[in-house]
Amino acid sequence: MSEQQKRPFTYEVTPETGIVAYFSMEIAIDPKLPTYSGGLGVLAGDTLRSAADLGVPMVAFTLAHRQGYFQQHLDPNGNQSEQSQPWNPADTLPELSVRTTLAIEDRIVTVRAWRYDVVGRYGHVVPIFLLDTDLEENSAWDRGLTDHLYGGDSNYRLQQEIVLGMGGARILNAMGLNANVYHMNEGHAALLTLALLESELGGGPEFPISNTDIAAVQQKCVFTTHTPVPAGHDRFSLEQTIRILGGERTARLEKLGCIVDGTLNMTTLALRFSRYANGVALKHGEVSRQMFPKDKIDSITNGVHAPTWLSEPMQNLFDAHMPAWRRDNLYLRNAIEIPEAEVLAAHAQAKEALLSEIATLTGKALSPNVLTLGFARRAATYKRADLLFTDPERLAAMAQSAGGLQIVYGGKAHPQDQPGKTIIRKVIETAAKLSIDTLRIVYLENYNWELGALMTAGVDVWVNNPRRPYEASGTSGMKAALNGVPSLSILDGWWIEGCIEGVTGWAIEDGEDDIAEAFSLYRKLESSIIPLYRSGMQHWAQLMKTTIAFNGSFFNTNRMVKQYTRNAYYPVRLLKNVDVREAAYTA
Ligand SMILES: *Cc1c(COP(=O)(O)O)cnc(C)c1O
Repeated sequence: MSEQQKRPFTYEVTPETGIVAYFSMEIAIDPKLPTYSGGLGVLAGDTLRSAADLGVPMVAFTLAHRQGYFQQHLDPNGNQSEQSQPWNPADTLPELSVRTTLAIEDRIVTVRAWRYDVVGRYGHVVPIFLLDTDLEENSAWDRGLTDHLYGGDSNYRLQQEIVLGMGGARILNAMGLNANVYHMNEGHAALLTLALLESELGGGPEFPISNTDIAAVQQKCVFTTHTPVPAGHDRFSLEQTIRILGGERTARLEKLGCIVDGTLNMTTLALRFSRYANGVALKHGEVSRQMFPKDKIDSITNGVHAPTWLSEPMQNLFDAHMPAWRRDNLYLRNAIEIPEAEVLAAHAQAKEALLSEIATLTGKALSPNVLTLGFARRAATYKRADLLFTDPERLAAMAQSAGGLQIVYGGKAHPQDQPGKTIIRKVIETAAKLSIDTLRIVYLENYNWELGALMTAGVDVWVNNPRRPYEASGTSGMKAALNGVPSLSILDGWWIEGCIEGVTGWAIEDGEDDIAEAFSLYRKLESSIIPLYRSGMQHWAQLMKTTIAFNGSFFNTNRMVKQYTRNAYYPVRLLKNVDVREAAYTA
């Protein structure tokens, strides 16, 4: 039996609070499980890990994704191919005794769930329920509904969202757990509001609804949006909605104003039924309020789970100098007091670990004493992975005068994203052409949790240059900051809050176009970063310490989950029964 199966299910609920049910299409549960694609899943996993550490009464729902998010292969020319990573939940996880059924496209689909326990630092458990339709009584098509994360077409996606939102809400009900908060992490789970509405009415979609029923559902729901541009929001056509969700439910959604211009918008649906909504950085909250001017949208800036993303040498260093950081990440502010030599030694170890993995993976030997930049994220075009190569000669000259420069890349393109794949190819081609003795560039295949942890801890500067305003928050730079690694980034997402010039990193200035922003990036490297790195490691160590103190202490999920708990889940004004729809933000 696995560790998971041995542990009894002892989930305790405090009577005055009930529990929070958290819904996310993807969750980075464990480095060995292929149940996530990128930032959204990592955030969900880090949220649950911190909720477990903090003792928040929470359970979570996601899909099993039996075929896994894909493994990336890159040929020498930079062409990406994809391979699924199948896994079987039954090998390691216990199954829940309850099941539920759903009507999808005139079929009845049975849903079961597997349980994975996230165990916090003090033993508090946050169970994750992985929904699964791979059952004999389901049709071959339906058995595959919980196979592919972000695979298939929009028909498949809508069916998955029924399983996640409605299936999850019903399984929770069947377990007899009393959830009084339903947290939708992005619009994928918005259909849970329909399931709640129906259980409020005590029946199916045919019952008439009153404002009281809507208010009762609203009272339970909170919603986090992650998408700063309209095109990114999940939408389904009226025809699809009628066919897959059914005529009566569609008519209900229409009456509720959730079908606009012939499309069902999941963000609109989630907002319609939530008493509280938020964006994931201050700027993103502002952008979201402009997109949805009728709604009150607060901001809770994202974070990362510190013990998950800190290198072991840094953890040991923090344990020696400020052991309370594990209980409360705010104590990281005292990183200022750590002797410089010790910070440098811990970072050198993390860098060594990265370089040794790079040598294993690519056969290339990078130097521990050369300034090393890191750039890794989903290869979407707006992230502009090729921006550093805008003027290859200038980059090479810079490397020459700096006495060497190393750049470590990583990132997958979504299988259907041809422009994203082209960017990967361009980076790898240019890197091959440019690789001179003083400029070493590697592109690591299959960027994932483990590589992300090694890279953010082991490079010297973390680079991020998305096109504004596409980055809702971004979290990889937060992982770097915890490890004392400063960022060089566009002022978008979290970096607007995190950047203190020369203290936690550097801003790439806004420009008219890509070229102007690339030139700002070069200028920062030439006139700020390289000179500082060459001025002696004492100064660099001070920068590392201020990065940990200012940003490591704040951009973590320990702080973030506390904010969700008091601002969203259980605000005092709600417990005291004060108007819960009051403005939750300052305009
Ligand atoms: C942290 C992380 C992300 C998210 O990083 P961004 O800065 O939002 O791009 C994506 N993928 C992996 C593997 C990560 O660890």
